[in-house]
Amino acid sequence: VADRLSEFGLIAKYFVPLATHQGALSLSDDAAVLQEEAERDLIVTADALTAGVHFLPDDPPDLIASKALRVNLSDLAAKGAEPAGYLLALALPHSIDDAWLTEFARGLAGDQKEFGISLLGGDTTATPGPLTIAITALGHVPRSAMIRRSGAKPGDSVFVSGTVGDAGAGLAIRQGRRCEGADAAFLVARYRQPTPRLNLGLALRGVASASLDVSDGLIADLGHIAETSGVRIVVEANAIPRSPALCRFDPDVVRAATAGDDYEIAFTASRPMPSNLPANPNVTRIGHVEPGQGVVLIDGHGREIAVDKAGFAHF
Ligand code: ADP
Ligand code: MG
Repeated sequence: VADRLSEFGLIAKYFVPLATHQGALSLSDDAAVLQEEAERDLIVTADALTAGVHFLPDDPPDLIASKALRVNLSDLAAKGAEPAGYLLALALPHSIDDAWLTEFARGLAGDQKEFGISLLGGDTTATPGPLTIAITALGHVPRSAMIRRSGAKPGDSVFVSGTVGDAGAGLAIRQGRRCEGADAAFLVARYRQPTPRLNLGLALRGVASASLDVSDGLIADLGHIAETSGVRIVVEANAIPRSPALCRFDPDVVRAATAGDDYEIAFTASRPMPSNLPANPNVTRIGHVEPGQGVVLIDGHGREIAVDKAGFAHF
């Protein structure tokens, strides 16, 4: 890239067109300036994706871009925030060419339109290492309305959106596990391009007592709520929602509950089932909150199912 296009040429060609927000100043300044409003809070979150860890280097560039953006929007969704914009820091290996960047920018443009957000700025460097995409997303909630991890109370119910385990299966398929046809396409798509549950997040304001997005595995992430809230979470294995494609590919519920990359929302609420949630995605009650600590998975007889590894861990 560096040979053909300068850093600024690259920014002008691919990223200035994505900086649609007035405050981004068409990426012509050192920083963006956003007019703030009273009575709301700014929610800020960052997630970095590295080739070989979060996506495979030969994944389609538009889907890599989309995943990098959506995992950040998923964090905003879990906090009940409405997305506003994002910053994009890129470390590009020299193998990245014009065609790749064109597709990458196209993926971002599509999602910007879908989610009503703008690129606000970023940084671009070359690297001898793997491609890394670091995004910082910004969103808003009404004053003090951010849904935290810390509010779960004994007696609350535990819920999760959508289905879990699909993305883990999709990754296994991409790594060589046999699966064909529509099931393979569905599971791999769930790995490559998550769906941020933004409408659900908005509906959970004032409803969920605690919430987070499931990125490392359902059990591991519920463990974060249990720890921050100072409670114990009991999950019924039979209640965990799984897609038909996943059940055909791998019926093991423990693997589904500990596989990463779901980007569904797990939350607690004081009611058996909150009303006024959007019809899509489905929300399923999967357990309850007790006094104590940790997360346990139980079978239909109330017996604890052993879980060796609660989820994905980088270190
Ligand atoms: P600095 O010298 O402060 O590092 P740069 O020269 O790197 O600034 O960037 C110039 C402008 O281009 C800034 O507005 C910056 O936000 C923007 N920019 C650089 N890289 C990206 C990128 N990958 N995505 C979006 N904006 C970018
Ligand atoms: Mg810079």
